[in-house]
Amino acid sequence: MSNNDLENSFKQLKKTIPLLLKHKIPAVPINYALWYTYVSNESASLNEILDQAIQHNLPLSKSKTKALYRKHAADDQEVDVWELRQSIESMIVELSQSVKDTRNETRSFKSTMDTCMDDLAKVEREGLSMEEVMSLVRSLVTQTKQIRGSTLSFSTALMDAEREISRLKDQLEQSQQAALYDALTGLCNRRYFDEELATQAMRPNMCLILADLDNFKIINDTHGHVMGDLILKASAKKLQASCRNGAQAFRFGGEEFAIIVPNCKLDMARQIAETMRRSIEKIGVRDKRTSQVLGGISASFGVAEIQKGMNPLALIEAADQLLYKAKSLGRNRVMPMSNR
Ligand code: GH3
Ligand code: MG
Ligand code: MG
Repeated sequence: MSNNDLENSFKQLKKTIPLLLKHKIPAVPINYALWYTYVSNESASLNEILDQAIQHNLPLSKSKTKALYRKHAADDQEVDVWELRQSIESMIVELSQSVKDTRNETRSFKSTMDTCMDDLAKVEREGLSMEEVMSLVRSLVTQTKQIRGSTLSFSTALMDAEREISRLKDQLEQSQQAALYDALTGLCNRRYFDEELATQAMRPNMCLILADLDNFKIINDTHGHVMGDLILKASAKKLQASCRNGAQAFRFGGEEFAIIVPNCKLDMARQIAETMRRSIEKIGVRDKRTSQVLGGISASFGVAEIQKGMNPLALIEAADQLLYKAKSLGRNRVMPMSNR
């Protein structure tokens, strides 16, 4: 680190610590790294999110901190990648040793072959005894066996490497899966939702929107699961795009989504849900089998505002009941209805 870097990092440190103290953020490494990135002004989008959190006094859940850290402060999946790199490096060392061994043995095989060829030429030229010819053949056989053995062990090493690569791939997928995002839609997952809701539900004026795609089973049955997946992805994108002012969309499960809307009264959250409902109505997905564009997709919404003394489960229950009502009234609507 140059003197300049050291000086700069010291300056940032002097800004970061008071910030953590002021906002009562525990000074654990992940928070420190995140807020250090904030005071360094390295990422405009991170600063925007954290500025909003400061402005509205929004708490940051552990999952959210982790997600922000991953996205803005850490290199992509820093830890996972480090571990994977270790495994891959040792695999490469092993493989290259195997290649070296095989090459050395091939080289020595070649030189033995050359000698044998010379000797064989001598058989013609000078007429070798039977015993001499036999010893020549024996040496050729030994060398051939050796080279065969080394090729075999090389191919075993390759097979081991292949198995190891597929194991590492699974491991990477699992670690991504176990993290915070839903693999299909890219939205934040249920685990993230539970934690985020528990954090946000401590505060007044937060709303929860639950959305459920209408007649999705029929869509799947008629157009296939692949189309179903495409529609889920498109819906997630629409919901995400309609999130404003700190609202966050999650895949709640199956064809259900949840949107946490902090600092928002019921009527405003209803309007957000209405915007989402209309944007889902506009989805058109091309069915590759028939080249037709599938439309007519809709979702029903239940919107609830947190009440004093309500726990997260009760809030989910309230939104779910309204969602159920929207379904029973004919789907493709937001409940409760506007009281204006
Ligand atoms: P409703 O309007 O009452 O909500 O009816 P629905 O058909 O949407 O509800 P139901 O609960 O009967 O069916 C939900 C369907 O969603 C069934 C399930 O196969 C499908 N589904 C859940 N997750 C996925 C997924 O990841 N991909 C696909 N393609 N389908 C999914
Ligand atoms: Mg459902
Ligand atoms: Mg449904």
